[in-house]
Amino acid sequence: MTATPNATARPASPLAPDVEARILAAVDARFDEQLARTAELVETPSLRGGEEPAQDLMARYFGERGLDIDRWTIGSDELRAHHGFGRCTVDYDTMTNVVGTYTPAVNAGRSLILNGHIDVVPEGPESQWSRSPWRAEMRDGWMYGRGAGDMKAGLIANLFAFDAIRAAGLELTGRVHLQSVVEEECTGNGSLAALLRGYTADAVIISEPEEDSLVRANVGVLWFTARVSGNPTHPREMGNGFNAIDAAYGVVAALRELEQRWNDDKANHPYFEDLDHPINVNIGGISGGDWPSSVPAWCELRVRVATYPGVSADAAWAEIRETVALAARATAEHPKFDVELTPDGFWAEGYVLEPGSDAEALLERTHRAAFGRELTTFTTPGYLDGRVFVNYGNLPTLVYGPVSEHIHGFDERVNLESVRRCTQSMALFIAEWCGVREA
Ligand SMILES: [Zn+2]
Repeated sequence: MTATPNATARPASPLAPDVEARILAAVDARFDEQLARTAELVETPSLRGGEEPAQDLMARYFGERGLDIDRWTIGSDELRAHHGFGRCTVDYDTMTNVVGTYTPAVNAGRSLILNGHIDVVPEGPESQWSRSPWRAEMRDGWMYGRGAGDMKAGLIANLFAFDAIRAAGLELTGRVHLQSVVEEECTGNGSLAALLRGYTADAVIISEPEEDSLVRANVGVLWFTARVSGNPTHPREMGNGFNAIDAAYGVVAALRELEQRWNDDKANHPYFEDLDHPINVNIGGISGGDWPSSVPAWCELRVRVATYPGVSADAAWAEIRETVALAARATAEHPKFDVELTPDGFWAEGYVLEPGSDAEALLERTHRAAFGRELTTFTTPGYLDGRVFVNYGNLPTLVYGPVSEHIHGFDERVNLESVRRCTQSMALFIAEWCGVREA
């Protein structure tokens, strides 16, 4: 199950025009089936802790193609000891990654990982969707549903891009690992577990919904809970108590100041200087108090903070702690209060895809062939598993995929024509990167 980069591999020669045409046509010919499989996957919910039915499907798809299947529960001591391990709050004994590996009869080309995550974020109040989030309705050139864009269309595009080579009457001459990982939306531990299991390659593609563009740089992300302690009293003597919910507003204000300070520093971070607001602090959850007629004894904030590439998670964490400790010190407005910060998810550092790799040069060509226009690059202020492969595997990692709207929101959707062309671009990439011969 382990593949090391093929040291003797040489760049394959550019595809002959007729071979390129056959691969593009093979994607078109199977596109209806690709959409049917994408819909099947969208209609199989895969919220955190409930990914297994969807991973069953992925394993079935890989098996139907004759790939060697490696499916394992991701928890391990090595994972937990890793610097980039996201502090998990769930049981990893039942959550699996699935990898399907193609091993060529003649291994002469470069190897490739095609990665995607199976997990999706909660759908929110279903009454605010205009259709069921778990029914993959196709309308006016879009497919709707939770995970349609982020990123089940990409997972299935990986598969059908790979399929197109064989469907075009060709045989790959490099190894390919198709990865379906868990935990991308909360810790990044799924891709990290795959790397630690020994999966590496000469390049990686992650087909996240990226507007038909290539991600150049990406923030790191930390998750934590801030728990403020109060002093509960009866409201008739409210002045003798301490209201943890009121105090939490002060913690939020301090985090907003930190957010402003870090955004004001964007000019010092290459690829981030032109973004309006690269660092976003999200107060993603709040709970607290036990009774309307008791001064609340506790309040918890669930927080997501972004960091620039090159800023260590340890350094960011130290600054967050210092900022919150200052807010909790005694002032004219309030006495000193207790606030405890606990990491409970991402512990991830950002990354930059350094320009000039062979992989990027090839994607520029295959994108042009599929879309008829130049490939653009951009910086994204959201987490990506690319950081695992770049920071810890030193692998050229192309995060590249289709146009979507409302990911993590209501009526999430992915653009079908964009999916088709991205699949074509990736199929050409696979063929030229790994090399092909007539079957
Ligand atoms: Zn995603």
